[in-house]
Amino acid sequence: MESKFDPSVVDAWEQGVAGLRKSRKRRWIILGVVTALVVAPAAAGVLPPVPYLPALALLVLAAAVTIRYGYAAHLRCPNCGKPPAGSWNRLPLQDVDYCTHCLYWLRNPRGR
Ligand SMILES: [Zn+2]
Repeated sequence: MESKFDPSVVDAWEQGVAGLRKSRKRRWIILGVVTALVVAPAAAGVLPPVPYLPALALLVLAAAVTIRYGYAAHLRCPNCGKPPAGSWNRLPLQDVDYCTHCLYWLRNPRGR
């Protein structure tokens, strides 16, 4: 099988990656603000730190993992609509060069 190059697929992929990076950045900021707000009652002594803070730490960790690794479910190949790489080789995002399903390049193979 031979890889295929279509500039519109490359452009669509770049737009998708840029959009995802932007929305992920926004989510990190929201998580930071929310974390600061929910830690405040324990820090101020209104709530007992145990079990409030350990439970909170687990929730924040789960949210962070979702933000960090959740993109695979949202970022799909502009040509075939499937995630461009298998579950274990999706990371890091910028290293995905082509779609393993339809073999379309997601980045310009000659660089820019
Ligand atoms: Zn594809």
